Amino acid sequence: MRLANCAGRLVLITGDASQGSLPALDVETASEGLFSADPQAIYARWAEFRAWAESAQRDAATPVAESALGPVVPRPAQVFAIGLNYRDHAAESGFALPTAPVVFTKYVSSFTGPTGDITLSPGDVDWEVELVVVIGTAARRVDAADGWNHVAGLTVGQDISDRTAQFAAPPAQFGLGKSFPGYSPIGPVLVTPDEFDDPDRLTLGCEVNGTAVQKGTTADLVFSVSTLVAELSSTLELLPGDVIFTGTPAGVGHGRTPPQYLRAGDELTSWVSGIGVLRHRFVSA
Ligand code: ZN
Repeated sequence: MRLANCAGRLVLITGDASQGSLPALDVETASEGLFSADPQAIYARWAEFRAWAESAQRDAATPVAESALGPVVPRPAQVFAIGLNYRDHAAESGFALPTAPVVFTKYVSSFTGPTGDITLSPGDVDWEVELVVVIGTAARRVDAADGWNHVAGLTVGQDISDRTAQFAAPPAQFGLGKSFPGYSPIGPVLVTPDEFDDPDRLTLGCEVNGTAVQKGTTADLVFSVSTLVAELSSTLELLPGDVIFTGTPAGVGHGRTPPQYLRAGDELTSWVSGIGVLRHRFVSA
């Protein structure tokens, strides 16, 4: 199953993208008001919604423009982001491999949709393509073997990072440096785990002005999706609709020689196989 946020309304995506549009079924209308149009509200009733969606009459789907899509999860109660979660990225960053997940937050006011312009902050601005996990059912002290059972689905994210703000003074300032407006784009759709042959082995990457800068596989995650659910839930309760940015593979601008950062006019394309593509253009303030 695939879901999206179309101009603030929850839609089921019923087919493939073609010429910049997707066939979409409005959930509130199709369910005759059983489910709210609010894309964030659905996770509180995730099991009930999945059962309805599987048997929903899909004939009423209409094409919606990809440019009309917003962040598929617009207002999560909690946002987790994981640092140094790929061996090659930890190495390019000059850090030892973590022995426990390095957890920080991206503030929710930085969320934006899968396309559009992002205004550059004053510092050196970098890219980090990431697989993003959305929690479906609350999780507290779950085993890694049970981790995927608490996941509603997966989407594509960018952990856009102002390195100047992040490293202004030791120790690093992860949360603020990665939370300027628009610095947490997610989308274009949420895809349920059953749609993948192997949800622990997804290719991801990004391009700047058409030149590939990152490419990796989630099979190389130091802490896998199910392990992250277990580790986070050992401390706190993961809530329906929470979001986890799972970390980025090698190839960020900060790790290059010389470093490369985003400039006004740059186009950033970010993707995860089997999910979709984010397309953003950077503009000066
Ligand atoms: Zn990141």
